[in-house]
Amino acid sequence: MRVLIPFGKRRVVAVIIDVLSHTEVDANKLKSIIRVLDDEPALPNSILSLCKWAIQYYHHAPGEVLQNALPLALRNEDNSTKEIITAWKASAKGQLIDITTLARAKKQVDALTILREHPQGLTQPLLKGLNVNSSILKALKEKGLAEIQQQEAQYQPWTTENLLKETPLSLNQQQQLAVDAVLHSDTREFAAYLLDGITGSGKTEVYLQILEQVLRDGKQALILVPEIGLTPQTLKRFNQRFNVPIFALHSNLTANQRLAVWRQAKAGSAAIIIGTRSALFTPMKQPGVIIIDEEHDLSYKQQDGFRYSARDMAVVRAKLDNIPIVLGTATPSFESLFNVQQGRYQQLALTQRAGDAKLPSFHLADLRNAELTNGLSKPLISAMRHELSQGNQVLFFLNRRGYSPVLMCHDCGWNANCTMCDARMTYHRQPTHLHCHHCDFQTRIPRHCPDCNSTDLRAIGQGTERVDESLSELFPKTTIIRIDRDTTRRKDALENHLKQIHTGEPCILIGTQMLAKGHHFPNVTLVVISDIDSGLFASDFRATEHTAQLILQVAGRAGRAEKPGKVILQSHNPEHIVLQSLLHQNYKEFTQVALSERKLTGLPPFGYIAIFRAEAADANTAMQFMELLVTHFSLIAPPGVEAWGPVPALMTRKAGRFRYQVLLRGNNRTALHQAISTLIPQISNLPESRKVRWHVDVDPVQID
Ligand code: ADP
Ligand code: ZN
Ligand code: ZN
Repeated sequence: MRVLIPFGKRRVVAVIIDVLSHTEVDANKLKSIIRVLDDEPALPNSILSLCKWAIQYYHHAPGEVLQNALPLALRNEDNSTKEIITAWKASAKGQLIDITTLARAKKQVDALTILREHPQGLTQPLLKGLNVNSSILKALKEKGLAEIQQQEAQYQPWTTENLLKETPLSLNQQQQLAVDAVLHSDTREFAAYLLDGITGSGKTEVYLQILEQVLRDGKQALILVPEIGLTPQTLKRFNQRFNVPIFALHSNLTANQRLAVWRQAKAGSAAIIIGTRSALFTPMKQPGVIIIDEEHDLSYKQQDGFRYSARDMAVVRAKLDNIPIVLGTATPSFESLFNVQQGRYQQLALTQRAGDAKLPSFHLADLRNAELTNGLSKPLISAMRHELSQGNQVLFFLNRRGYSPVLMCHDCGWNANCTMCDARMTYHRQPTHLHCHHCDFQTRIPRHCPDCNSTDLRAIGQGTERVDESLSELFPKTTIIRIDRDTTRRKDALENHLKQIHTGEPCILIGTQMLAKGHHFPNVTLVVISDIDSGLFASDFRATEHTAQLILQVAGRAGRAEKPGKVILQSHNPEHIVLQSLLHQNYKEFTQVALSERKLTGLPPFGYIAIFRAEAADANTAMQFMELLVTHFSLIAPPGVEAWGPVPALMTRKAGRFRYQVLLRGNNRTALHQAISTLIPQISNLPESRKVRWHVDVDPVQID
């Protein structure tokens, strides 16, 4: 239950997670709860259990875990888990009075008649819709015939009558097998399925037909998608199919709007809830199924504060709710593939594109010694020109926003670096400034080189803004739509761009990974992937996995309808094993090689890891704290668990702070977690811990 408690000089909203009859704490130190805020638990049992699981597993502060699970608006003592509405009713006198005595006040007669017909009460907006305005209600109240009452809003449960608004597609054999597998038992108990379907194989249709049956059973569904940009699209497709209340939870909603959706889900009147990571905690009265779309996506892992994986926790939740969970993707994470191998997940494969669509052809363009105009090769320009002349759309993928990643002095080689980070500043032209994408520091472009005073400062390398400029010069008559964080800051901007793409008119789309995910652009026939080489050589052990996934996801945007598609990948390293295995779009072949390499290192999924990170204003303080951690670890080290480090983070200085880390690796999950549990109180008690900011990241997805 939520309660209001005294906390220092403040009053805060807290959550009771356990009730004890005995405590070691001195009686005079105990304080009383000021007030219980709701008349029901704020978190249903399964969500509370999920939170308790996460507190243990992620070794995280209970308060912050619960804060993530509760809607923001419920941190306010004035809000309640239930919606309270103000309703107008006929008073006892109003019920009994002979209505003809009011005959001269015609409007009051009508109003009182309506109120008498609705003994459960009506809200002001509803009454207004019935032509009863507030002055009439007031008049009735003054005569003692009507009264106001605060009451709980009644949600209508949804019905399955006329469930379908459109006829479902007839499934191909593989799709049918997938749907049947998930729906096979009448009881629909917990089971995890990996829907491993290539891009364009019709995973959404599989979801829809699973949902249909779940909805017919009167059960609710929770769908997680990686990007807010995908919620309107998913919402639209689900709304086209089903005649039930479907709600989207995304970051454009106000706290009160989110609370409204949360209440409907909890009360069982929301049939389908679609949302990003944090929607995982939405309660459901009648849980039926959880679907995680693009399960490999990194955005499911929260990267600060409570560092949880919404995908992994969704599996735990499905187990607690005892319902099936479907993890869909064209490029499964190595963890999920491993879980299939271990028999924990059941794999459902879709190996063909749905309908008549064919997989795009894949071409590697060797950039070595290639003659480039504005960073583009001649064959590439003519391929783009050809597609546009056929009335098709071209997608140009470059995962770097801004004009150029480097601003350099041509005379002495000086680079514009961030003063707060070990990083170069990105040069932007719209508006002109230097921007550090790591700490957000922004500054003007210097007129002269600060080292040699030369005015010959040059933009080196390509960002989306520069590609936009180059392509506008090369294709002056073609519409160019750039989608990156800079062009989609305004509310609705992304949706408007997407709408324009969906008109199908020939155009060039330039985009970062925002464009790579899940979108269905039927008229894109050519995808250009530029400058992906850095991902092939990064030191993060997951870098090649993520690069391969990104390439296939971007490539998957081509040729999704009747028109065949083509992918051109520009690289200076065309022989690289990742690119070679992807040449045949063979993710499986790639994963087999990459997984056997992982096995040798004992890294996930073949072992378990957690990273301790510490940062401080000076390097020594952070480093020494991490050394102390390793010392403490060596005293308790369980067999099979080892500490790597301390090492400086790849970007050692970020936002003015120095960062060091220690990685713990274990063959056995339990032993690793025991070590973490023992270490945390030990190092928290060190005086040195107060001089640093530190945290532990369990199952980290990015090591930077
Ligand atoms: P994915 O999510 O697997 O990339 P989608 O679900 O977006 O693919 O499907 C791609 C296209 O194939 C969509 O236009 C969809 O309507 C179509 N499609 C899916 N299943 C079928 C089917 N059984 N018959 C015909 N077309 C289908
Ligand atoms: Zn210079
Ligand atoms: Zn910076």
